Parts: sequence; C-alpha cells; structure tokens
Amino acid sequence: MFTHRLVFPASVLRGRGAIKHLGAMCGRLGQRAMLVGGKRAIASVEAKVADQLEQQMVSYLGSEIFNGVCCQEEINRLADVFRTQGVEVIIATGGGKALDTAKAAGVACNIPVVTLPGIAGTCSAVTSLAFRYHQNGEFRNMMPLSSGPAAVVIDADLLATSPLQWLSAGIGDTLAKWYEYRAISDLSQLTGLAGVARTHSELCYTLIRHFAAGACFAVQDGKANNALEQVLDAIFLYAGLTSVMSNGAHTGASHALYEGFTACPKTRHIPHGLLVGYGNLCLLALENRSDDELLAALALARASAIPTQLAHIATGLTEQDLAVIIDRSLTTPDMANMPMDITFEDVRSAVERVEGLGAKIN
Ligand SMILES: [Zn+2]
Repeated sequence: MFTHRLVFPASVLRGRGAIKHLGAMCGRLGQRAMLVGGKRAIASVEAKVADQLEQQMVSYLGSEIFNGVCCQEEINRLADVFRTQGVEVIIATGGGKALDTAKAAGVACNIPVVTLPGIAGTCSAVTSLAFRYHQNGEFRNMMPLSSGPAAVVIDADLLATSPLQWLSAGIGDTLAKWYEYRAISDLSQLTGLAGVARTHSELCYTLIRHFAAGACFAVQDGKANNALEQVLDAIFLYAGLTSVMSNGAHTGASHALYEGFTACPKTRHIPHGLLVGYGNLCLLALENRSDDELLAALALARASAIPTQLAHIATGLTEQDLAVIIDRSLTTPDMANMPMDITFEDVRSAVERVEGLGAKIN
C-alpha cells in the first residue's frame, strides 16, 4: 500500500504588491530573519525586505549570497550559517536553484522558509522538492523535503521587472506539466489525485496558450498586467499543485532531455525551463503526434521565446555533443517514466523532426 504525502506551502500570497505582506508573514514565524539568494536577486529586493521587517520589528540579520549551485555542500554551508547566526526565519529569493538550496538548508536545521521568487523560472517557490546537482553543475537527483515553505510571496510587480528569458523558462517548465503528465499518466488507472494533477496541468496549458504573449509583453515592458498574473499563477500555483498532487511523479522525456543537456558543457548553463521547453517538442515527436500538433506547439514555444531549434540553445553543437546528451537522457528515471521503450535512434529522429518542422515556422 503506497501512502501519498501531500506537502503544501502553509500560506500563499499572490498578486501585485504581495511583498507588502512579507513583514507580517515573517513576524509570525520568528524574530530573527536572514535573506538568502543570488547576488542580483538580493540587490533588487533587500531594501524592501529590510523595510518590511522593520515595520514588524523583526531583526534583520543581513543577507547571505548563494554560491550558484544547489549541491549538498552548499546546502550544508547555508545550514551552518543559519544555525550559527541564530536565524529564526529564512527569506529565500532568486531563482529555482537558490530557493531549492535555501528550502533544503531550512529543513536541515528546522527553520521555516519564506520564498520570494525573484524570477518565474520554475515552480520551486511552492514545492517541497530540491533539484540537487553535483558541484560541477551536473544533475544529481530530485530530493524530497519533509516540509514545504512556510509562506510563498509571488509579487507580480517584482516579477515583471525580471529578464524575459526567465519567464520563458517558467513557461517551458509549466507546459511540461501538461505534455509530460499527459504522456505518462495512465487513464485506465485514474484516481482523484491523478485527476486533480491532470486537470491542473491542463489548466496550465490553457492559460499559457491564452496569455503567454501578453505576459511576455508585460515583462518586456517592465509592468505587470492581467496576462502576466494569469501566467504566474499557472507557473507557481497550478504547476506547483500538479507537482504536489503527483508527488513529483509527473516527469518524462522533456525532463530527461534537460538532464541530458546538463551532461554537455556547451548547454549546461542554459536555464532549466528553456531546455525543458525544447524537450517538450521532442517529447511530442517521440509520441508520434501529428505535424499539425507539433506545429502548434512550436508556434506557442516561439511566442513564449522558448528555443525551437538546437541552434537557439547553443551554436556549434556537434553530432558527438548530441550523442552525449541523448545517451545521458536515456539513463534517467524521467525517461523510464515514458510508457514505451525509447532508443537512441528514437530520440535522434525526434530531434530531427523538430528541427525540420521548426525551420518551417522560422
Ligand atoms: Zn522542471
């Protein structure tokens, strides 16, 4: 008998200006707060965070810069900092890697974490998972955490000022919720939990299809609009809930290809969601979906500034690089989730088909 453990964030604040509630949220969790995240993310929110904490008379202990890789060494280092500084509430900002590391470190020393995503690249802000890497940036595993964030603050005004590529990455990762879940879920085994995960993932797709172009415009313009709010809800809430409801078991060939790309030094640095977004197109080809369906997916990816050709990912990718990427993707648990056996030739021809059709919409 398998027990599902559903770990939700305790509170979610979303919408424009949500950061104005951060201080009160932190004040309920502890009296000594520390901000952790990437250098740029800290610079863009630190004044607002410090002001929020001051209003609630919570001591601000300053910030700690995340070193860029969510590896066990960095998780341990941050946990040590939190323990020795007597931190009572952690405010984590930045992208998925920074949030994952702070969440894992918070769990390690039993300190509540409030996530304040600085970019919309993944749904990491709401999940109780950490994507763990080796120190050199290669993917290691997906680590379940015993608790989720104590609070999540998704501020559309803040996220409207982040670079477009991160919104595109979030859209790519969120579209994967639908494409992958549809590919791997067994409708004959439908349960309520699986149904909720599937419905949320389909809602993600529908919202993105309607609002992606408007959301990208908002970010290029630097001003939040309704389309951006809808897409952010898809990225953080509905995709996050798919993740929670499916216990993280919602990944397939798109994420397998992403993991493959982390084995190649030329593509390792590309944001997770952009590679997953490209992987989605290969997944549809692996499923032998029609040209019409693939062309529609390619057009949506293009409208969302997601790579649709290998040359958009990196220039000078050789056949040998591609072999390393495909070989690695075939060894991942995500690829094993696919309902059919997948060979090297299957993936190679899926990539080729995406290249061919992608060229048509250029
Ligand atoms: Zn992902």
